[in-house]
Amino acid sequence: MLKASWPTITRTFATVFLTGALLLPLISVCYSSEDPSTIAARKRMVERDLKGRDIKDPQVLEIMGRVPRHLFIDKSLQSQAYADHPLPIGEGQTISQPYIVALMTQILQVKPGEKVLEIGTGSGYQAAVLAELTDKVYTIEIRETLTRQAAQRLKQLGYEKVRVKYGDGYFGWEEYAPFDAVIVTCAANHIPPPLIKQLKDGGRLVIPLGSTTYFQTLTLLTRKHGKTDIQHLIGVAFVPMIGEAQKR
Ligand code: SAH
Repeated sequence: MLKASWPTITRTFATVFLTGALLLPLISVCYSSEDPSTIAARKRMVERDLKGRDIKDPQVLEIMGRVPRHLFIDKSLQSQAYADHPLPIGEGQTISQPYIVALMTQILQVKPGEKVLEIGTGSGYQAAVLAELTDKVYTIEIRETLTRQAAQRLKQLGYEKVRVKYGDGYFGWEEYAPFDAVIVTCAANHIPPPLIKQLKDGGRLVIPLGSTTYFQTLTLLTRKHGKTDIQHLIGVAFVPMIGEAQKR
């Protein structure tokens, strides 16, 4: 009797494991919030608009292929979430074109554990992308409603470590300074001096610099051994930095 029961037990276990192995992926597909067309659109965006241009950093490509950009914008615009252009996020503001998000992230070369400050939280998408690279992301937004919405969205999507502040990003975030990287996602006609001050030696700062009503030049400032180096990269069009930046 006992002899015969071992194969039976083995068979039962094998059946349970096999059924589980087959059912689990099926269950996860059924419960996944993403439909196949969303996944396909995001894949297309990575291939055509990022890899197809000069986005080569494998980590940036992988992250942009994973972060659900469509969940950072209004439902009515979600079908355009992965298109090659910016989209409105309310209050006259925009979420940047995916390529620009990827480019600015690639330029900053954020390493795990580094501190990053973003000026212009907007939808929270850029902050989420950065949060995939480091657990120390600080972001400031000057519009109260956008701040509240972005903070809530980031939390809901599991980016609870991102620290969101309502205020004028012109002055940086002294409490957490110095930063390894600063990313400004609104346009200014000069680099706010407090942001340069709050940059570590070896730090990088990227900002759309120029006319705040028309076009700007994406500019990279690096600080090394006390010296500041400036590189002008490409032409861009961002919404203006308001507050203190406009008084100067
Ligand atoms: N990075 C955002 C998009 C930014 S749009 C995203 O991923 O969705 C630019 C944002 O900068 C707007 O939300 C605007 O309100 C904000 N902004 C403008 N001036 C600012 C300032 N002085 N300080 C902080 N945020 C500012």
